[in-house]
Amino acid sequence: MPSWFYSIRFRLITGFVLVLTLALVSVSLYVGVAAQEETERFQGDFDRIQADRLERLVSQFYSSRRNFSGLQTVIEQAGSLYGRRIQLRDMEGRLVADSHERFGSPGQLSERKRQLVSIRSRGNEIGSLLIVPSDIPEEAPNPAVSRLASSVNRSLLWAGLAAGVGGILLISLVSRRILAPISVLTSAAQRLGRGDLSQRVPTSTRDEFGQLGRTFNSMAEDLESAEQQRRRLVADVAHELRTPLSNIRGYLEAVQDGLLQADKTTIDTIYQQVLHLTHLVEDLRLLALAEAGALSMDLSPDSLEEVLRKAVEAFRPRAEAGGLSLSMEISSELPLVPLDRTRIAQLMGNLLENAISHTPQGGSVTVSAERIGDVARVTVADTGEGISADDLPQVFERFYRVDPSRARTTGGAGLGLTIVKQLVEAHGGVIRAESTQGKGSRFIFDLPLASPSQASQAGTRGDKG
Ligand code: ADP
Repeated sequence: MPSWFYSIRFRLITGFVLVLTLALVSVSLYVGVAAQEETERFQGDFDRIQADRLERLVSQFYSSRRNFSGLQTVIEQAGSLYGRRIQLRDMEGRLVADSHERFGSPGQLSERKRQLVSIRSRGNEIGSLLIVPSDIPEEAPNPAVSRLASSVNRSLLWAGLAAGVGGILLISLVSRRILAPISVLTSAAQRLGRGDLSQRVPTSTRDEFGQLGRTFNSMAEDLESAEQQRRRLVADVAHELRTPLSNIRGYLEAVQDGLLQADKTTIDTIYQQVLHLTHLVEDLRLLALAEAGALSMDLSPDSLEEVLRKAVEAFRPRAEAGGLSLSMEISSELPLVPLDRTRIAQLMGNLLENAISHTPQGGSVTVSAERIGDVARVTVADTGEGISADDLPQVFERFYRVDPSRARTTGGAGLGLTIVKQLVEAHGGVIRAESTQGKGSRFIFDLPLASPSQASQAGTRGDKG
C-alpha cells in the first residue's frame, strides 16, 4: 500500500466523503417519501372536492329532469375537465353514463384510488358515481410526484457534489494546517535522534498538538541537561584524578632523576596520594550505585540512638585533638527506624568529618535526635565557619566545594555531602542544610520510622536473639 493510504489526511477525506454520501442518501430517501405523502394528501383533498361538485351537478340535473337522460355529455365534459374517468350508475347498477365509453370497463384499482359517491336527490339515493383517478386504467406513477422527487434528487446530487468538492478542498487545507505541527515534530525528533539535543518545537497552540509539543520540548530539555551533566561529570572526574596522579608522577620522576631519595618520607607521600585516589574511586563507585538505585541496602528496624552514639564516639578523639566539644542530645522516646547500620555510620562519618574540620578550636559539634511526627530527625550542628548563602544551595551537588583550592589540599573532592544525600534518600528520608556564615552550620535529616508491624517483628527477632 502507498504511504498516503495510511496518512491521517487521507483518512479524514475518506471519512468526510462517507458521511456526506450517507447524509445525501438519507435526505434523498426522506424527501422522496415525504413528497409522495404530501402529494397524495393534496390529491385526496382535490379528489374529494371534485367528487362533491360532481355529486351536486348530477343531483341538480336529476332534480330538474326527474331522470338521467342527457347526462352522458355532461359526464364526458366533466371527465375531460377533471382528467378523470367518471361512471354514473342508477340504483339498479345499470351504467347510465361513462366519460370514457370507448375504453371499456375500468381496470381493478385499489380502494384507495377509486372513489364511489352516492347521489341523492330530495333525501333519496338515486344512483352512484365511480370516479377513477386516471383516464388510463393501469397503475402509472403520478407524474407530478415523480417529477418533483427526481428534481429534488437532482438538486441534492448537485448540492452533494458541490459540497463534496468544497469539503475535500477545505479538509485538505484544514488538515494541512492542523497536521503541520506533526511534521515539524517528526523532523525535530529525527534531528534529536541524530544527536542534536538543542531541538525544540513551537508550542503556541493550546490543543493536544501544543501539549505534545510542550512534552517533546521538556523531554529534549531533560535529555540536554542529562547530557551536559554527563559531560561535566566526566570532566570533573578526569580533573579530580589528574591532581593526585600528577603528584605521584612528579615524585616518581624526581626519584628517577635522582632529585629525591626513595626514602620513607617520599614513599609515605606517594602512599597518601594513592590512598586519596582509592577514596575518590570508592566514593565515585558508591555514588554511581546510589544514583542508579543499585546500592545494596540492608534495611531493618534498628536503634538509631545506638548507631549515632557509635559514630560520635568514633570521632571523639579527633574532636578532642582539635580542641572541640562533641556532644549528643537524644530524646528519650526515639522509636526504631528501618536503617542500614553501615550506611548510617558512613553518612554520619561524612557529616561529623565536615563539622569537625570546619569548626575552629574552642567550638562545639552537637548531634541531636528526636521524634517529629512519623519521622526521626537527626541534626548535626557546629559552631564553625558556616557556609555563605550563595554556596548553601549547592553543597549537595557533585564535586561542589566552597573553597576549591583549600579543599584540594585537605583532600575533599566535593563528593561527601552528595553521598550523604544519596544515602539519606536510600533510607526514604530527606536532608537539608542551614547555615549562617561565621556562626555555624546545621545539617538536618529526617528518616521515616518503622511501621508498628515492622517494629513488632523486630521486637520478636530481638527477643529470640
Ligand atoms: P568534601 O568532601 O570536599 O568535604 P562535601 O560534599 O562534604 O565535600 O562538602 C561540600 C562543601 O561544603 C565543602 O567544600 C565544604 O567547604 C562545605 N561544608 C560541608 N560541611 C560544612 C560545615 N559543617 N561547615 C562549613 N562548610 C561545610
